[in-house]
Formats: sequence, structure tokens, C-alpha cells
Amino acid sequence: MSINKFIKASIQEEDQEPSAPSPQAESFSDFDRAYHSMLCAGCSCLCDDISYYMKEGHVTRTLNLCEVGWKRLCAVSAEDRVPPPSPSLLSDTVNQAARLLQAHPPVLVLGADNADEAAIRTSFELAGTFRGISLPWAYPGIRRFYERAKRFGWATGLLDEVRDRAESVIFWRADPLVTHHRHLSRYSLFARGRLTERGNLDRNLAAVASHETVIEPLCQQFFQLSTDQDSALIEALAHPGGGGGLDHRDLPALARALQGSSYVALFVDPEKVTYEALDAMFRWSAKLNTEGRKRMVILPLWDAGPNIEGFCRVSLEKNATPWGGPFAKASAGTQPEDTSWEDLAGTVGSVILISSGVDASPGNVLPKGLSEKPRVVIDPFKRTPALKDQVVIPTALPGLESDGIFFRADGLPFDVHGIEVWRNHGYPTVRDVLADLMSEGR
Ligand code: SF4
Repeated sequence: MSINKFIKASIQEEDQEPSAPSPQAESFSDFDRAYHSMLCAGCSCLCDDISYYMKEGHVTRTLNLCEVGWKRLCAVSAEDRVPPPSPSLLSDTVNQAARLLQAHPPVLVLGADNADEAAIRTSFELAGTFRGISLPWAYPGIRRFYERAKRFGWATGLLDEVRDRAESVIFWRADPLVTHHRHLSRYSLFARGRLTERGNLDRNLAAVASHETVIEPLCQQFFQLSTDQDSALIEALAHPGGGGGLDHRDLPALARALQGSSYVALFVDPEKVTYEALDAMFRWSAKLNTEGRKRMVILPLWDAGPNIEGFCRVSLEKNATPWGGPFAKASAGTQPEDTSWEDLAGTVGSVILISSGVDASPGNVLPKGLSEKPRVVIDPFKRTPALKDQVVIPTALPGLESDGIFFRADGLPFDVHGIEVWRNHGYPTVRDVLADLMSEGR
């Protein structure tokens, strides 16, 4: 398939959620309520142009929802979803969970980046109650990214600025077509901005990855490299006259594109690059920005919960570090950068897992050492398999059945509202469950 055909197909696919009925097949009588300009909390793109058309409490059609958002929507009425607990059942379950946590301190609260800001705040207080720690899955990457930002200075920007100004975009070991489906159409490639009126025709797109990726056919330059070649590529791009010692077919074309761009946006997944590569990236950006001839911004694109930016902000406020410290409480004498999940498992007694997604099965997702720990699973999605030493508490799906503040990938806060008719489904919010566990644990 040619690139142009691929681009056309991508745009069409994106604007038609799976199994949506065709507009021609519908009339006004096919739905009795419509919600427009709703926010989706499926990932940190936080798309704010979603429409839901409902009939008798069921969504019959949506607009602008991508596959990830559609799966979350389907989870609301999934047949295998745990039914909402009665108040007395909820109280018994919370009580049982609190006893389990009290018997196995310290507690690791994992995955609060999947919940709204109020729940994240409560996760830190709860961790303190059980002498533990609250961490997001991406904590090693967050630490290494922010330490570099502090050391070298950090030029960042809003996604709206990227849409308006970026003439060159590089995805460095991050693939938005896997993690943030509408990133390209809303902000970074197809989106038409003030100074990029022709969208993708006004931009150069490049990507770096270890393997073939979904985004590759859209790229003008694609670098399939091992992670230890990242620094050499950055050096070669930062010093086009000769540097880095890397020879690659697409290198001259990307160097030319960067030279001709006044604004460059680099999206990186910090968990997938080495410390050295991050150092080189920050130095490169600082050099370009200091010279003043062009602006280069670095934005992390985490493969993490939709409110990972909210987690970083709350953690900064509470701990003075964005990655969920102070780590020493859970793992004395070790540094997070060189602490593996197994090391962590050796120091915590139990886990509160805030479910990470519609397809996640916590028994499979948790690293081996942690999967053997007694745990409390807070699961807004579906039935978690019953395991020994495990208590499951079903909760409302954030952004669909409950309201809350989520932070977009560039750090902007948004007030995400659930759909009115679903707020009464009877599920407790993640924040309420964490608060109940905390008061039981005191
Ligand atoms: S890109 Fe993210 S926020 Fe936008 S519709 Fe898809 S899941 Fe929702």
C-alpha cells in the first residue's frame, strides 16, 4: 500500500469506531439522548470531541472514539463485569481488604496513574497509613527523565503549540498508533495548525524503533536501531557536519529536514532509552534552543496510565519528586534507577493494584515476585480471577461512570465528566475505596 493510501485509510479508520452503525442507517429516533464534546480518559490525549448517542441507557453510536476508547466504553456493560456491590457487601469487602493489608505491611500501591487526581492524592495518604509507597508502573523512566530535565534544563511545550508550529516531529521509541491512537490526528502529524495549515504536508515525520512499528509507513525517515545506537544517531543529527559515526540511509534526509525546520518536537518513551541517550537528547535540545535559531521541545510519551502526568504533579507536591518517592521508605539503601521489580518485591508485604486496563489480567501483568504477594485489586473493568490471598473491589470506570481531574500528556488539567445515566450504576469511585481502606487501616 502506498503511503498516501495508508494515510487515507488511517484517517478513515480513526473517524469510524469499530462496529459503529453507518450514519445513513440512523435517524433521530434511533437515539433518545446525545452527549457532545465529551472528554475521553482512555489515554493522556484526553480527546475532548467525543459524542455519544444513547438509546434506553445504551450507547448506539459514537463519534471520534478510537479503538482504545471504544474498548473502555464496551467495558461499562461487559457481561463478565463484576456487578456493583451492595453497601453491606462493600463494607465487608473493604474490611477484609484492610485486614489483609494490616497483616502484610509495607504496602505498595501500584497504578494510581489509572485514576483521577483525587484518587492519586488518596493513594499517597493510604500508602502512608500502611507504611508503604505509591508508584506508577513507569517509575524508573519517570525518575531518569526528570533527573535529566533538572540537570540539563528542559524545553517543553503544549500539544497545541506542537500542532500549530512543529515542522519536524520525531517519535523516539514511542509509537502513538499503539498507545495514543489519535495523537497524530489531533496534535502531531495530520492536525492542521496556525503555521502548519496543510497538516502532514507541512511536516516531516521520523521514528526510531528497535523493530518494525505501526507508525513506520507514515514516516519519511525510519531508523530501525538497537538502543545502544541511539546516542550515535543523536550526535550525528546534532552535528550534521560529521559526528556520531553512524551511517544510515535516512540520516541525510532527516538532517536536512531538521535544518529546514524552525520548530522540532521530539516525543520519547523514557522507559525505552538509555540514560546516555536521554543525556544526549537533552544536550541536543539545549544546544539548539540556546543558539536561538530554532526551538526543539522534548515531550515524554509514556506507555502508562492515562493520568500519569497527574501522578507526577501530585507526587511532586507531596514528595518533591515526580516518580512516587520517597522510595527509601519501601526499599532502604537502594536507588529506584537500579531497583528491579524483584528488589521491590523483596521489600513490600502486599500490593494494592489499581487495574491498568480493559485487557489487563493482574495475575499475568504483575512481575513474578509481586504476583506472589497478598493483594487487593481495585478493578473498574471486569471480573478478576479469584486467587488465594486476593480481595477484589469493583469500582466505577473513571471518566465514564465517575468524574475527576485528568492531566493531558503535556500537563494541562481537564475536568472529565462521566455520562449522567451511568453515574448511578452504583459502583464506588476508586478514591472512595482508597479512603475507606485508609480509615479501616487506622
Ligand atoms: S486517543 Fe485516547 S483519549 Fe482519544 S479517544 Fe482514543 S483512548 Fe480516548
